[in-house]
Amino acid sequence: MDHTLIKGAEWMLSPETAEGAPRGIYGAQCLTCAEESGLVDDDTRPVGVWAIAHTRDNPTHRQFLVTTHKHWRVEPVPANHAAEPEPEPEPEPEEPAQTAPSVSAKPP
Ligand SMILES: [Zn+2]
Repeated sequence: MDHTLIKGAEWMLSPETAEGAPRGIYGAQCLTCAEESGLVDDDTRPVGVWAIAHTRDNPTHRQFLVTTHKHWRVEPVPANHAAEPEPEPEPEPEEPAQTAPSVSAKPP
């Protein structure tokens, strides 16, 4: 949800983008023995490497629950935005009818 904002009255929810905040924190847990990979910031590769190594060492352990944690921030909506009316939604462009005859751009 990089650019998705959820507005509720005077509060606004958005992803935490402060310096040092990871975009994602990843981890996996073996569904057979519940062993965990540990959590890794911003990179799924170490978690995948752990899962493969875990299955290599325990060949019957082949299913994992993978989790992703993300930070969100809720902040007050700036006053100038709170006062603005919601923009009208753009009308959906209508698809041309399948049976409409084609129109040639060339003169006859
Ligand atoms: Zn296991």
